[in-house]
Amino acid sequence: MKLVFFGPPGAGKGTIAGKLAADRALPHVSTGELFRTAIKDHTPLGIQITDMMDSGALVPDSLTVEVVRKRLEQDDARGGFVLDGFPRTIPQADALSRTSDLSLVLNLIVGDETLIARLSGRRVCVSCGFNYHIKFLPPKKTDVCDRCQGTLMQRKDDTEVSIRRRLDVYQTQTEPLIEYYRDKGLIADVDGSPPPDDVYAAVLEVLGI
Ligand code: AMP
Repeated sequence: MKLVFFGPPGAGKGTIAGKLAADRALPHVSTGELFRTAIKDHTPLGIQITDMMDSGALVPDSLTVEVVRKRLEQDDARGGFVLDGFPRTIPQADALSRTSDLSLVLNLIVGDETLIARLSGRRVCVSCGFNYHIKFLPPKKTDVCDRCQGTLMQRKDDTEVSIRRRLDVYQTQTEPLIEYYRDKGLIADVDGSPPPDDVYAAVLEVLGI
């Protein structure tokens, strides 16, 4: 299975893609995670993209396509993968189509108000990357990860100004991909507004699992 999870920031792509990838033993390839790791490790790529990411802008296509190409060339991605956050532009989608025949693009649909509430309350474990929410999924102990005891932080791009920018970028640069993939018969729409377990069940149904 070669899947793409598509949708605006805060739609739940990371949560649902991560669970599906773990359950089906497929690599979960999140460009956002790959970039955050590069920033944390102070690699040349990380240094180059820090300001863009913090502000909510997209990383240039040339850099992004290269990162994904290298990741999908690894052995574990031969039999399939679950992409999350890629592609985000038409040139990225064109580049992907040259190397991979996608099985399906799952389009998670969530309204703006819910997205803003989810993103502004999100907290992420700096050690294992698990996502919490101060209201919808609070940790047992404030700012401590239930799973690994790591510290929970707010992502730098989850501030009000960056969230607004990311939603704007999504509408102008990423949303046109819905028609791009619909024309290819690859889109499956899924309501992403219910709690994660319900969204996950709907995704499994769409996939016939
Ligand atoms: P995410 O974790 O998917 O919300 O991505 C966080 C940030 O990483 C985005 O706001 C962009 O700055 C960058 N990013 C992630 N994926 C891409 C992509 N496919 N193209 C360009 N920038 C990306």
